Amino acid sequence: MRETKLSAHDFVLPLFISEKIKQRRAITSMPGVFQLSVSEAAEEARHAFELGLQAVLLFGIPSEKDEQASGAFADNGIIQQATRAIKEQCPDVVVMTDVCLCEYTSHGHCGVTKRDGEHFHVLNDETVELLAKTAVSHAAAGADLVAPSDMMDGRVGAIRRALDEHGHEDTGIMSYSAKFASVFYGPFREAAESPPQFGDRRSYQMDSANGDEALREAALDVDEGADILMVKPALPYLDILWRVRERFGKPTAVYHVSGEFAMVKAGVEKGCFEERAAVLEIMTSLKRAGADLIVTYWAKELAQWTQE
Ligand SMILES: [Zn+2]
Repeated sequence: MRETKLSAHDFVLPLFISEKIKQRRAITSMPGVFQLSVSEAAEEARHAFELGLQAVLLFGIPSEKDEQASGAFADNGIIQQATRAIKEQCPDVVVMTDVCLCEYTSHGHCGVTKRDGEHFHVLNDETVELLAKTAVSHAAAGADLVAPSDMMDGRVGAIRRALDEHGHEDTGIMSYSAKFASVFYGPFREAAESPPQFGDRRSYQMDSANGDEALREAALDVDEGADILMVKPALPYLDILWRVRERFGKPTAVYHVSGEFAMVKAGVEKGCFEERAAVLEIMTSLKRAGADLIVTYWAKELAQWTQE
């Protein structure tokens, strides 16, 4: 009589791949999560696939950053290298790639910025052009889906057009449609080495108080050609997840983010609850609220727990 059942296919494993390391490096705020080298990432993706997972989501840490984020769209950029290595080791695993500039810009913002005195602006159109270029280079390296996470206006449409123009009609777009400015991204910024060096991201991420605005953003992404819509973070935004899934009837993903992960780990460490039971309850609630896909740092454990 159970309405909601979890399976390994529900989960996507995020991988952090660093050009700066030869061996895995622990991320202190996220116990059990590592930055990986390219070859380690390829092995990890194969391992994940063998455990029953279908997909991985790649984040890159380049060895050099600059104002124009040139590492994001370089042919031999870190994501491009990792995508090729993973596809070589395990052609059947679905490779999703994060498309954003913040890991590649020296200032850590998600776009090209202009500063005047105390103020700075993120230049929307210049940024969108670079995002489209980045998406095309990921597709050329073998990515199955590109996942723009920047929240700039018009980027899904621009990416769709650029992919089609370059013969990547089959590459899908998983769009971060409702990405809220959130305190729960803290540990991720250590993992991806992408904290903004000045200002914050509130000018382009959404206010946590705005549910209707989230639906308007998602509607734009649907019109522009998104294949999968994503809501991020997860637990504090279950209502948004539900509304997006109900309103558009599109495959909908949710990102259970680093701070949510760290919170559960801390609770477990303090003896407040048992990890597996807590994680299964959270994941069940996300699926019940409409998630077709759940991006989570517990993906590998969940692949095992849901098979037992
Ligand atoms: Zn970003």
